[in-house]
Amino acid sequence: MTSELVQQLTKTRMFSNRLGVIVGAGRSGLAAARLLRALGASVRVVDEKTDLGNSILEGLGPDARLMTGPLDKEKFEDADIIVVSPGVPVRKIREVVPDFPERKIISELELSSWFADEPIIAITGTNGKTTTTSLISHVLEYAGKKVFTGGNIGTPLSEYILSRESCEALILEVSSFQLQNCRLFKPDAAILLNISANHLDYHLDMAEYLEAKLNIFSRQTAEDLAIVPADMRDELGGRNFTRAHIKWFDGKGIEEQPNLPGPHNRCNMEAALMAVEKLGLTRKQFLEGVKTFKGKPHRIEHIGTVDGVRFIDDSKATNLDAVSAALDSCDAPVRLLLGGHFKGGDVTELLPSMRGKVTEVGLFGAGREHFEAPLKEEFKTSWSSTLEEAVRKLFSASNAGDTILLSPATASFDAYKGYAARGDDFKRIMEELS
Ligand code: ADP
Repeated sequence: MTSELVQQLTKTRMFSNRLGVIVGAGRSGLAAARLLRALGASVRVVDEKTDLGNSILEGLGPDARLMTGPLDKEKFEDADIIVVSPGVPVRKIREVVPDFPERKIISELELSSWFADEPIIAITGTNGKTTTTSLISHVLEYAGKKVFTGGNIGTPLSEYILSRESCEALILEVSSFQLQNCRLFKPDAAILLNISANHLDYHLDMAEYLEAKLNIFSRQTAEDLAIVPADMRDELGGRNFTRAHIKWFDGKGIEEQPNLPGPHNRCNMEAALMAVEKLGLTRKQFLEGVKTFKGKPHRIEHIGTVDGVRFIDDSKATNLDAVSAALDSCDAPVRLLLGGHFKGGDVTELLPSMRGKVTEVGLFGAGREHFEAPLKEEFKTSWSSTLEEAVRKLFSASNAGDTILLSPATASFDAYKGYAARGDDFKRIMEELS
């Protein structure tokens, strides 16, 4: 966005005498609050957490207010617009203010996208968003383009809009939470990578989750591009989900790259190629960029070898599909580490990828009740209270040539601050073995 446009927009103050209520005082919520403020609104920041201080209101104007505690009617009184942060179920808000117009409940992505005039590539899906988003940005930058990368990863789009910087394209990772509360968001190229059981603790059911994901395509027009997995053709073929030109990908149109192993990464790459072609890059330029792309950490990352045993950190695998993808990318024999806060799904779906490849399963921490019964009939399975104990157990039974794979199928919050801390701990344990 040009700085003149930002100045014009802030001068317009289209939200003068309006009250914006922001639900969720995280990074994107506060960025949305600053944007609304720049547009002339008064802002009220609402959060269930009660330990927040007024310091978060800095820069939001003299009439900014913070209201903490459970969501109730009072918090939305006189609101003209409500901005919902990812992770706050919008139905909770609708329950509290059932008469508030639905179109005025929006995500930070929606609000900020109104002021973006650069071409947008948006990426969603259950798995592979960060990898594909980073790959697209890398390839475009390698080809000499200046891009902004953000959304669900790193910097919220509102921060870019307020920064007065200017880029040639916006590469946005978008989650179903953000998409559910979009009304006008319209990417030039939109990618749906895949969809599987996830976040069912947030969304009512799979139908609602799919609906939210498909919202990425719903405002696109014939000049835009919708990039969709070929294995969803049957599911989507009969649905009028977009007016955009549709391209289906199955990963067959691109060769595997050493830095992006596995069939799933061929899908990620092919989708990325289709998107950058839309911005004018050639296949040759894409492949040059891919070769210099370093995969992201904690995603099927080879972190070392001890006594001939390879250690692979896939701590970012927080659902079953990601575990299958990791298994399909590794050579046998694999000793698999599973465990943590299980988010749902049918564990027997792992069996086809495990058969003939996995020799032993080491369960650790929470989630034992979900994994043990479906797996122990076919695989040698043990449980340990900590990751460390489980790794040591698997390592003591390993031979040179084996792979110990941490691909836990869970969120890490039972024992760690996040997936990165879990992966780092895995690396520490490996280093202490050597
Ligand atoms: P996201 O941002 O959607 O969580 P990441 O790129 O961070 O995606 O990858 C998360 C996990 O999903 C990792 O374990 C990774 O190996 C796996 N993964 C990446 N791409 C795919 C894909 N296309 N299908 C299945 N799993 C994938």
